[in-house]
Amino acid sequence: MQKPSHFFNKSILKPPAWETIIGLETHVQLSTRSKIFSGSSNKAYFDTSPNTQANEVDLALPGTLPAINRVAVEHAIRFGLATGAKVAQHSVFSRKNYFYPDLPKGYQISQYENPILSGGEVTFFSGGKETSVRLIRSHLEEDAGKLLHGSYTLENGLPASGIDLNRAGTALLEIVTEPDIRTTDQAVDYSKALRSLVVWLGICDGNMQEGSLRFDVNISVRKLGEKNLNTRTEIKNLNSFRFLERSILFESQRQIELLQSGSKVVQETRLYDPDRNETRSMRDKENAQDYRYFPDPDLPTLIISPAWIENIRFSLPELPLAKRKRFEIQYQLTSYDASYLTQDHEIAVYFEKMMLVLPEEQAKLAVNWMMGELSAKLHRENKNIKNSPIPAYLLAELIKLITGGTISNKVARQVFSAMWIGEESGQPSNIIEKYGLKRTNDINALRMIIDEILIDNQSAVSQYRAGKKKAMNLLVGKVMQASKGKADPKDINTLLQEKLA
Ligand code: MN
Repeated sequence: MQKPSHFFNKSILKPPAWETIIGLETHVQLSTRSKIFSGSSNKAYFDTSPNTQANEVDLALPGTLPAINRVAVEHAIRFGLATGAKVAQHSVFSRKNYFYPDLPKGYQISQYENPILSGGEVTFFSGGKETSVRLIRSHLEEDAGKLLHGSYTLENGLPASGIDLNRAGTALLEIVTEPDIRTTDQAVDYSKALRSLVVWLGICDGNMQEGSLRFDVNISVRKLGEKNLNTRTEIKNLNSFRFLERSILFESQRQIELLQSGSKVVQETRLYDPDRNETRSMRDKENAQDYRYFPDPDLPTLIISPAWIENIRFSLPELPLAKRKRFEIQYQLTSYDASYLTQDHEIAVYFEKMMLVLPEEQAKLAVNWMMGELSAKLHRENKNIKNSPIPAYLLAELIKLITGGTISNKVARQVFSAMWIGEESGQPSNIIEKYGLKRTNDINALRMIIDEILIDNQSAVSQYRAGKKKAMNLLVGKVMQASKGKADPKDINTLLQEKLA
């Protein structure tokens, strides 16, 4: 059937429609106590003074040899099992050769052929729909050091750059997707889901400010309906979801304008500049052979036995996807609610703690309070749910007082605010007692309130009697106000109907 001509359709306004093809490479910093190939500490390199967490191996002194960190391997296996990837029983470390001052060896130890993980997928909610992004591979590698430009002044007063090797040799898992992503929102949702998953698995601290996850985005554009992929560019080293979003929006628009004007997109690496909100050319894209990859003779083949994999599988927590499906069935929740609860491990834990106290049919009310009052307050005060001033069991108590009829929803919000600032040790029943907030069942008292309200609001009464049924809402509101929210709305309605009949 043809759409009517007035039908609003963006693609009619902006012909032709383009689509963006996005693939992501993510460097995830693994939570290990020591570095991936050396015994130096991996702890808080971010705020320790430069070059205090780097030993002979990290400095690439002659005669030193790397040795693989067992925990880094286990973290990679954990990620592989959680995403349905194939864990290689034999995988190989290779040297990726390039010169840069933050890389003392002149090569990075990485994996090229035979990475530890191949395939797998990350499944998440995006735009209200379950979406999966396929993974090509994930491999282990070491991080480089850091250049601190202008951090240092020479004796002659000139500014100089320093090299900090604290980060050199930190364990990374590089996760590469297929170019399955089609929109900026999907790219951001995938990245958030990936962050949440690695934190959930306990293999990364998820700290974006400190660079615990860094995203490289590959982008190309094509007209809708085209089959071939056009030339792509790569934007490197994005460490926030906002920069990821903005750089994709900018870069896809830049490419569309180039192609529309008859120019070509050049394959290159680009840098996102958040101050100007634009991407700029950094360097031509190296081809893989420029790195002269070859197996590192200092490291033996990494052999992973099936028994080792099974042990790790046994120790995995219930994964977000499984938990989401279970919540949907066990608590009769919508996928939207269940995906809200499982977007973050701490949120899921909080909910499950509430459900230790509440009957299953009150799950929906629990979710509403978590998504509403609790999340708004946490957000406003920049607090994490793990350190919520109202612990799960006390919020559950509050919900029981609502469902038990002791207080109305409206009064519950007042009690919540008092709990938040720790009045009466945050005990909802004590707060209700203290302020006399208990819902009144005293029908005679309510009749008296109603009589007064009717006397004071003669015009609303005559409007109602004249057929303006909406006048009733005003009267109910006034009575509720006069009862300080303690009256049962059902009682108010019944009594008013009686009086006005
Ligand atoms: Mn890498």
